[in-house]
Amino acid sequence: MSEGPVPGIERVLFTEEQIDQRIREVAAEISRDYQGKTVKLIGVLKGSVFFLTALARRIEIPVKIDFLGISSFSNRSGAPGVVRIAKDLDDAIEGDDVLMVEDIVDTGLTLRYLLQTLSGRGPNSLAVCTFLDRNSRRIVQPPVRYRCFEIPDRFVVGFGLDYNQLYRNLNYVAVMERKRS
Ligand code: 5GP
Repeated sequence: MSEGPVPGIERVLFTEEQIDQRIREVAAEISRDYQGKTVKLIGVLKGSVFFLTALARRIEIPVKIDFLGISSFSNRSGAPGVVRIAKDLDDAIEGDDVLMVEDIVDTGLTLRYLLQTLSGRGPNSLAVCTFLDRNSRRIVQPPVRYRCFEIPDRFVVGFGLDYNQLYRNLNYVAVMERKRS
């Protein structure tokens, strides 16, 4: 899904080319930093799937992948910070060099919970790579080692990010129109 105007979209924030270029840069950084190791990418379903697969294909060291499913009530619609693991990892992470791959870090509450949970499972190292970062809305500041883009305080969709499960398949990131009241 790429051509023509899409209903509900106000403007494109990052194009397919910009995203590809930035992912190459971040993947190169990761390949350098984890040289000689195998990096285990852990994605959070479903938002991070598009970013994780794009990133994994640009990393030039051995990569393993696994996924977590969460039910999160920490976004704009509900009480902050309540997260539950709905689908656990397939494999143990003890001794692994784990890189959590996020679609967006907003308040930081989801990520803080996930880092607390995973750090208790004995990984050799644990770091975070996020596609989008909205630092202006942070409530807590979990450490984020890699980020592709900083974004303004507007709701965004595309490249894995949804609105009511739609728009994930846009190959760009866009700002949603504001709802008229
Ligand atoms: P946090 O706990 O950092 O506030 O929540 C992060 C989660 O909120 C993301 O994984 C995502 O599900 C959701 N989220 C926050 N901002 C946006 C946004 O602009 N667009 C979309 N589609 N989801 C968002």
